[in-house]
Amino acid sequence: MTSAPHITVAYGDGIGPEIMEATLEILREAGANLIVESIEIGEKLYQKGVTTGIPPQAWETMKRNKVLLKAPITTPQGGGYKSLNVTMRKTLGLYANVRPNVCYAPFVKTNHPNMNMVIVRENEEDLYSGIEYRQSQDAVQCLKIITRSASERIIRYAFEYAVKNNRRKVTCMSKDNIMKMTDGLFHKTFEEVAKEYPNITSDHYIIDIGAARISSKPNLFDVIVTENLYGDIISDIAAEVSGSVGLAGSANIGEDFAMFEAIHGSAPDIAGKGIANPSGLLHGAIMMLVHLGQGKTAAKIHNAWLKTIEEGIHTGDIFSEQSTARVGTKEFSDAVIARLGQLPVTLKPVEYADSAPTGHEEQKRSDVKKETKKLVGVDVFVDWTDAFAGLPEKVQGALDSSLRLHTIASKGLKVWPNPEVSLKLTDQYCCRVFSTAEHGEVSHAAIAALLGRLADAGVDFIKTEHLYEFDGQRGYTMGQGE
Ligand code: NAD
Repeated sequence: MTSAPHITVAYGDGIGPEIMEATLEILREAGANLIVESIEIGEKLYQKGVTTGIPPQAWETMKRNKVLLKAPITTPQGGGYKSLNVTMRKTLGLYANVRPNVCYAPFVKTNHPNMNMVIVRENEEDLYSGIEYRQSQDAVQCLKIITRSASERIIRYAFEYAVKNNRRKVTCMSKDNIMKMTDGLFHKTFEEVAKEYPNITSDHYIIDIGAARISSKPNLFDVIVTENLYGDIISDIAAEVSGSVGLAGSANIGEDFAMFEAIHGSAPDIAGKGIANPSGLLHGAIMMLVHLGQGKTAAKIHNAWLKTIEEGIHTGDIFSEQSTARVGTKEFSDAVIARLGQLPVTLKPVEYADSAPTGHEEQKRSDVKKETKKLVGVDVFVDWTDAFAGLPEKVQGALDSSLRLHTIASKGLKVWPNPEVSLKLTDQYCCRVFSTAEHGEVSHAAIAALLGRLADAGVDFIKTEHLYEFDGQRGYTMGQGE
């Protein structure tokens, strides 16, 4: 036997400690070759005033061991606390969230017995960056950031996952009919990467109909790749369709680190009662063993778990008329341990081979041609309370002869010049300014001087966005009605 890898274990909050104990007991009894080091993160740390929920020594342990098995954490409501899960994913560079969703019919009730899909969710950007601002009495804003590099990395990960796991199809979901630049970039990158995998079928769904189809026809899907927020939502839909949020595990994978967990939260409503289903965390641990190269042990546990499920030994969350015994967390893990070495009879047994542990994973990256970037204008967002009455004149008065006011928009709708629109309710407007020369360049100095004159004129500018062309192509959207 090779020397045992060190893993970090976080017992978490709520039902976390109960399901972690059950999971570790199964790993031990199955002969998993691991040295466990535990860290304390989450609620207790927040209560001690550690606002991140993670003390420095926990980071040190996680970074040294590289692999983390984590029970769910309670995120305190209000008080400005950042989600510890999001902090960990971003700090450790865990860019891919991988969630298999499988049905166990007829033993776990579901309307879709043939569902077997894997959702690969981008984990580090999108609206989840949590970059938000209050700008005026009326308006708050959240920035959606999508990069080509992160899109390519997650999409390539999804195709590589499909190849390695004998999956046939990768589906992209986005909303690029509306968000043509951000989601458009994600979709376009998908089309480009897909060409490199001719043996894998690829298709695309707009996220709304895609989510609807996951709930009504989940067997249309094999591997799905999507952005962070959409991935969060469809993962829970898929988990619910498969029978219970208590069943599925997930892997968070980065180039250097990996974190494995259940998909559900800390379930404070049932904490301490000994009734939680440990299966989600156990599935996370099975994915961890495969990642560590201990495939045979992973299969031994997974098959014992399938046998337990098909014998009808079920925790309360999946208990139904198909069940034979309603058990608590400890009885459930004891039942799995008693079946180690057995295979399921009706459900399909799983097979994982022992392999080299997954190490530092660097991906191929496409060469992207650097485009010529030209500054052609600026959007100046202002807080202006009196509808937009008087605003065009104020802005025009602050322009020098090199600049012209093109439009004023409110939430993407052109309101000036536009006699059709009467907008009285809001107080955030976007003044679009271009060079007076057609397609002329605008300098940073001219923009800075404009802002100075706007301030002198009493215009409260709250934000600017520069308008660029890349190789002559517009790098900004037009307002509706523009
Ligand atoms: P939840 O997943 O904790 O609970 C939703 C429902 O599912 C509850 O009725 C719960 O009893 C049930 N449930 C969940 N897991 C179960 C299990 N293993 N066995 C049986 N029943 C189970 O979601 P929530 O109530 O929205 O969130 C509770 C807390 O968990 C919040 O503080 C939230 O921020 C946090 N959370 C953490 C993670 C994580 O650490 N990865 C993920 C999601 C939510």
